[in-house]
Amino acid sequence: MKLLEERIQRDGIIREGNVLKVDSFINHQMDTELFWEMAKEWKRLFAGEQITKILTIEASGIGIAAVVAREFQVPVVFAKKSMSINLDNDNYSTKIESFTHGRIYDVIVSKKFLTASDRVLIIDDFLANGCALMGLLELVERAGATVAGIGVAIEKGFQRGGELIRARGIHLESLAIVDAMDARTGTIQFREK
Ligand code: 5GP
Repeated sequence: MKLLEERIQRDGIIREGNVLKVDSFINHQMDTELFWEMAKEWKRLFAGEQITKILTIEASGIGIAAVVAREFQVPVVFAKKSMSINLDNDNYSTKIESFTHGRIYDVIVSKKFLTASDRVLIIDDFLANGCALMGLLELVERAGATVAGIGVAIEKGFQRGGELIRARGIHLESLAIVDAMDARTGTIQFREK
């Protein structure tokens, strides 16, 4: 998506350790006009899919997912990160390793908000090694729901997450795929669609 690529080029900051900072329009300050354009693009890309629910993970996916849910006119649920979960019967839970924080979280979704009749579109801001998305896929599986697709804003194509997800035959739509970035020169190379 040209608009997103141009914004990343203009306002993205490359940090050592393969981290792309997009704090000024996604991860801290949020540009909801841009989110709306992204939502419309996913609506077009997933036009053939029947979707009943948007699922994301706190915190940085929530802003984007909320705008996407408005566009699809379905509810949005975010998986909650928790340091110590109550292992009760009311939640589906799994463990996710955080790329940015380097630690493992318990992640939960209430059984009330994810059911076997749901067809789920998973939305997240970044795809790196795929741990966050694999965890969300597991929660959907535990609920007996169906994954209709995954929408990612920025995929870092030089990490293995995209390959892992596509190998599972899941319909993945990343709006910008970064194939290479250089913290020293500040250059970013996007994958041609
Ligand atoms: P994964 O689980 O795919 O390794 O990483 C995905 C999660 O880590 C995303 O939800 C995102 O919050 C965070 N993340 C991964 N890489 C980056 C990055 O380069 N920049 C930012 N801002 N977040 C990232």
